[in-house]
Amino acid sequence: MSVQVRLSRVHHPVTSLGWGSRIGIWFQGCSLHCPGCISRDTWEHEAGFATTVTAVVDHVAQVATAEPVDGVTISGGEPFEQPEALAELAAGLAGWREGQAREVDLLSYSGLRQGELHQAHGRILAHLDAVVCERFELKAGEGDALRGSANQNVVLLTELGRQRYGQPRGPAGQLQVSVEDGRVWMIGIPRRGDLAGLERALRTTGVALKDVSWRP
Ligand code: SF4
Repeated sequence: MSVQVRLSRVHHPVTSLGWGSRIGIWFQGCSLHCPGCISRDTWEHEAGFATTVTAVVDHVAQVATAEPVDGVTISGGEPFEQPEALAELAAGLAGWREGQAREVDLLSYSGLRQGELHQAHGRILAHLDAVVCERFELKAGEGDALRGSANQNVVLLTELGRQRYGQPRGPAGQLQVSVEDGRVWMIGIPRRGDLAGLERALRTTGVALKDVSWRP
């Protein structure tokens, strides 16, 4: 029987968190609570929705049949706090991509340290091409198009990972906005001050944001 997984959302196309056109899968739940995290909506472990890993892999396959994708980005939340589900998902996606006409990379985010990932989650890393890891740290300064803060590492795990993520990356600030079920989702790595600037700009047009994911 397929493992249960708790997710925040699944989105396609994602064009700002990885190479090419992608499917994004956001896990629900993160106990790391990095100060300055802009995804506080993904912290609560019981929020989001529950499904099975098989259903997620089937959904990815269905989406990619209609419109081929270049990769899958797994984010959160902290995906590695659901290790059984993440292991089954990574294995399922690795099997699925074997049958794809184009190369599909698997990229995951994690707030865990690189050493912790290698020590405790080798069987998951074995299916991934790259992982962006380490806590988000405000003090560390701005990251880039893949990293929220400069201390974070992009760990390259395969040749495909090296080809796509071993090159110098563009700056942060490449944001994608989507509206689903009356909610506005921003996908990507904002520059410092982007979100406050967005709020100020909207306020001048009479729009006040509430329930934003970057404030308690
Ligand atoms: S930045 Fe990532 S690891 Fe840190 S609290 Fe937010 S979701 Fe969790």
